[in-house]
Amino acid sequence: MTMSLQNAPLRAHSPVSRVDTVLALAEFDRPTLVIDLDRVEAQYRALSAGLGRAQIHYAVKANPAEEIIDRLLSLGSSFDAASRREIALCLSRGAKPSQVSFGNTIKRAADIRWAWEKGITLFAADAEEELEKIAENAPGAQVYIRLIVETSEADWPLTRKFGCDAGKALALLDYARDLALDPVGFSFHVGSQTREARMWAPALDALAATWTAARAAGHDLSVLNIGGGFPASYGEELAPAEAYAAQVMEMVEARFPGARHIMAEPGRGMVAEAGTIVAEAMLVSRKSDRDLHRWVYLDIGRFSGLAETEGEAIRYRLETPRDGGAMGPCILAGPSCDSADVLYEKRPVQLPLDLRAGDRVLIRGTGAYTSTYSSVGFNGFPPLDVLCI
Ligand SMILES: *Cc1c(COP(=O)(O)O)cnc(C)c1O
Repeated sequence: MTMSLQNAPLRAHSPVSRVDTVLALAEFDRPTLVIDLDRVEAQYRALSAGLGRAQIHYAVKANPAEEIIDRLLSLGSSFDAASRREIALCLSRGAKPSQVSFGNTIKRAADIRWAWEKGITLFAADAEEELEKIAENAPGAQVYIRLIVETSEADWPLTRKFGCDAGKALALLDYARDLALDPVGFSFHVGSQTREARMWAPALDALAATWTAARAAGHDLSVLNIGGGFPASYGEELAPAEAYAAQVMEMVEARFPGARHIMAEPGRGMVAEAGTIVAEAMLVSRKSDRDLHRWVYLDIGRFSGLAETEGEAIRYRLETPRDGGAMGPCILAGPSCDSADVLYEKRPVQLPLDLRAGDRVLIRGTGAYTSTYSSVGFNGFPPLDVLCI
């Protein structure tokens, strides 16, 4: 859904963002993610300036809204797709096949074939079987090998699910060549929400050793895909995106000689701050009259978009119309009939003491990893609506 703001009462250089103007004017009958496309654009420009010669492949999975793809496409972005559907989305919005990489290391054989027939030429792999699938369905394709990152200081680390170690990676380069594929380089991901650029250094050091070993073994690697991990602010102070990206690139350039083509795949860092979810308090209660904590139940929870509250890893900033008065601790929960649908309990959140059912609750920084994490209808709650302005 796209909304025209032509009639909204905006002043030039208003300190109130366009999103806040819309939020103030509009009524919402269900939880809605409002995306500020200009904010996405500003973030793209900042990251792009900092990343210099690296080509941005926006990680579509962070938020696949068509309007975001369109805006990024108009700015010259490329895309990293995790699935056939994400590739189809990018192509349908006008991306050229050369602008789309198939970066998931776990791909269906039929989808590899489909992508290859559509003109996609760049694929990720971290295992023999995956290379065999690619060789059979996309003969001669370019592949990059994903390396495991053992040392991550990220708030949302990707653990050991993806990538392979150095020894395996070198063997896979050889194997790819034996399969008549074109092994062009390596990829990695330092872990999502890596808050400070300096946290990349230990991972980069380890990965650079593998890069050097591969080149010494005769592989003329040209592609280095540094993945995502660029942070979004959830209330904490962060370096500006441009400075952060520039610092990362400086570390990369110093460690990866011969990397002729550098790719970066920001997801969260591109879109999270551009999004605000408009939610509503459905119930404020206490379990006993002596209870120090109130329970606040929202109309959105773990199953309707806020999956990243798992482990209380990502802590969103909340705003209500009653902010400014006395505050107190609350356990925050979603509306569904599942006991796992509690958002913040170990570290309660501070909300106004006079908050009550029906009050609007804004959840800031929710542009990434929300709308697509929303279930299709658990308990009959509708999926998160998305509005781009
Ligand atoms: C998820 C993902 C990204 C984006 O990560 P962020 O931390 O959101 O920037 C980039 N590359 C790959 C391969 C991914 O799976």
